[in-house]
Amino acid sequence: MALIHEDSKCAVCGHRLQGDYLATSGCAFDSDHRLWAYCDAPIHWKCFRQWSDRAEFANGYFEQQFNGWRGNPVWHRIQVDPSWFAVLHPRSQQLFLIARASGVSVAFSSQSWPDAIDLEPLHASLIGAELEQLRSTFPDWNSLYRDFDSATYEEGLVAYELRLQEEKEAQQRALQAELAPHREQCAQMVLQLQAGQLWCPTCQQAHGQIRFYDRSPDRKSIFICQICAFSFGPEGMPEWRK
Ligand SMILES: [Zn+2]
Ligand SMILES: [Zn+2]
Repeated sequence: MALIHEDSKCAVCGHRLQGDYLATSGCAFDSDHRLWAYCDAPIHWKCFRQWSDRAEFANGYFEQQFNGWRGNPVWHRIQVDPSWFAVLHPRSQQLFLIARASGVSVAFSSQSWPDAIDLEPLHASLIGAELEQLRSTFPDWNSLYRDFDSATYEEGLVAYELRLQEEKEAQQRALQAELAPHREQCAQMVLQLQAGQLWCPTCQQAHGQIRFYDRSPDRKSIFICQICAFSFGPEGMPEWRK
């Protein structure tokens, strides 16, 4: 979520934030895209509505959220239409609607349904048709659970968490396999240093004013020369200095 403080400016008009504004989170566009500068920043709803780039900008965030939600079984998909989609978070009893016209999610709860929890009037007028469609398709909260089977849902979650865990373990194994030779070489160098001196590739001499920074088990450890202040490792100078 964009960090907002009292001097924050609207990304579209450049003026201070007053009145209702939206704040996008993360970037839906690459850094070489002309709309990148508007990402992860606050925008007045009034400016957003009149903005000539609004449709493209909103569409970027719509697609981003759709892709994020699609592969994650925490979310139960309620409906997917060309101009909107809705997902349910069964554990917290919350429903989210994302319309292509705004790209900003709207939250509902079992207590507030069919009213949104916190919906700015300008946003509501922008996505009026989608809101109406959602409410008429699912007239009461229970109807959201039409296609929901809690056993299948829980099984899906367990399988998903297991898969994430396995991926994490496989990554950790690969990392350790990659770091093992490096760790071994560092240990040899530490012995040399303890015996008196080590070769600094920057100073081009062996001396004892070198410190070892042990960053195991997850990162490559380094040595820092106290004379030239440069770091090095078993492979010599760091890649960026070669
Ligand atoms: Zn503005
Ligand atoms: Zn040195």
